[in-house]
Amino acid sequence: MLSKSTSQPTIGVLALQGDVREHHRMLGHCGAVPVTVRRPEELLAVDGLVIPGGESTTMVKLATAFDLLEPLRKRVADGMPTFGTCAGMIMLADRIRDGIEGQETIGGIDMTVRRNAFGRQVDSFEADVSLEGFHPGESSHPFHAVFIRAPWVEEVGPSCRVIARVASGEAAGRIVAVRQDHLLATAFHPELAGDVRVHDYFVELVKEA
Ligand code: GLN
Repeated sequence: MLSKSTSQPTIGVLALQGDVREHHRMLGHCGAVPVTVRRPEELLAVDGLVIPGGESTTMVKLATAFDLLEPLRKRVADGMPTFGTCAGMIMLADRIRDGIEGQETIGGIDMTVRRNAFGRQVDSFEADVSLEGFHPGESSHPFHAVFIRAPWVEEVGPSCRVIARVASGEAAGRIVAVRQDHLLATAFHPELAGDVRVHDYFVELVKEA
């Protein structure tokens, strides 16, 4: 489902909870038309969707309460380009560790994500990540990433491509961004970094879909 002008796709930001406004700003900057998604009708009207950071346990409860969980699963399974950051990454994971009892997700990416993986003592921090998988074979300068009670990816299935890893320090090598077909996920918050490359990449992915 594409809007008339594919050069300016309409991209929703799931606005149940979390940092919605920063994503709107970044998407607008990258040439998309950002809209807010809270209801099933709004979900049907977008070319792509961003699931922001926040708290995945709360987000899944709200999605259920707003009758959005099944429509989200359906659109994601039907190929809607979707980008999850942090809690949004957890929402797109097929499997999670350290979730609360019975915690559900939308799913779609064949990966195992560990919640709050960087340890409780470091609630939030910044680190450079290397974006090796954006345009495979091309090197690009590191992305200065903001992590807030972030997950990391522990395992990926064969069709899930690693996009970024922590560049140095204790967590060096940890997978913090992945792509599987029309789905993109980052453990960090690119909307807070002042670096548009990840959003740009997603807007391009929506245009190509
Ligand atoms: N720890 C949060 C969760 O489990 C994610 C944190 C975030 O999105 N900044 O959902």
